[in-house]
Amino acid sequence: MNRRNFIKGSLAGGLAVAATAKTEKADAAAGTFGGYADSMGVLVDLTKCVGCRTCEAACNKEQGLPEPDKPFDDYSVFDEHRHGGLPRRTTEKEYTIVNRYEVEGREKPLYRKFQCNHCNEPACLTSCFVNAYTKTPEGAVIYNPKVCVGCRTCMIACPFYVPTYSYSSAINPVVKKCIMCYDTRLKFGRPPACVEACPQGVMTFGKRKDLISLAHKMIDAKPGKYVNHVYGETEVGGTSWMYLSDVPFEEIGFNTHLGPQPIINYVKDFLAIVPMVLTIWPALFTGFHLLATRKQANKDESNKA
Ligand code: SF4
Ligand code: SF4
Ligand code: SF4
Repeated sequence: MNRRNFIKGSLAGGLAVAATAKTEKADAAAGTFGGYADSMGVLVDLTKCVGCRTCEAACNKEQGLPEPDKPFDDYSVFDEHRHGGLPRRTTEKEYTIVNRYEVEGREKPLYRKFQCNHCNEPACLTSCFVNAYTKTPEGAVIYNPKVCVGCRTCMIACPFYVPTYSYSSAINPVVKKCIMCYDTRLKFGRPPACVEACPQGVMTFGKRKDLISLAHKMIDAKPGKYVNHVYGETEVGGTSWMYLSDVPFEEIGFNTHLGPQPIINYVKDFLAIVPMVLTIWPALFTGFHLLATRKQANKDESNKA
């Protein structure tokens, strides 16, 4: 048995609780998946967002989520911070949220929309030992709440801190997150509700590969308007949602220390030398997530030096 088969075998054997292991999961474990070639994506031009929160309202309506504590036209939410002064995050009742950033030297504040980035090689998927997650050929990362056991491993594994839980259900908490409007729109070729609702045309829906070309054309067409980087083109193996900004991404809360490797690539060598032990899986992903981030941070620092 070669090393690759051993890795696949470790996952398949160790994760025997999952009746139907997904092909993409095995490929991701072998580091060979790389995403679906014709998958769809969204390009977000952060320079255009005015923080109107129309996208938040559209998402809640489309996904049948409850009314938020404060109405969508209450902009005092931009002053809210979670414990530790961190900006707002998505919750079980809000699959997308917009935050405001005051950036030195920028005339106006910058608004940034958050939701699942729908990674090409999702750490949530590869970390889930009951195979609750699926990466669809259309590009969405969806999940089956009936299978989810509420272990929260995906929450730890996700490099963007996206999955949240239905904590209101004490007995059976399940994962909750943006599904790229898969059931109601994406699988029929329609753009997500938040994209369609945006009055500023902040988001462009299309084939991921076409959006990458478009993003680079936009950068080249107006030198100095955008930072010369398409966030999500390469981070953690690439994501379906990608971003253009006029200020450095690290100044608006993006993790710029994520390398181009999917999180699974930091784990697979380790999996090749030890048997899979399900009880250490969450700790394993936490460790490798930190390792991946730190390794890239060190690389960035030495490149600067
Ligand atoms: S952003 Fe997080 S939750 Fe979304 S697909 Fe990537 S790893 Fe999964
Ligand atoms: S893609 Fe759909 S589920 Fe995701 S944030 Fe937009 S409206 Fe909500
Ligand atoms: S609807 Fe568009 S402009 Fe308004 S907050 Fe959302 S992304 Fe920004």
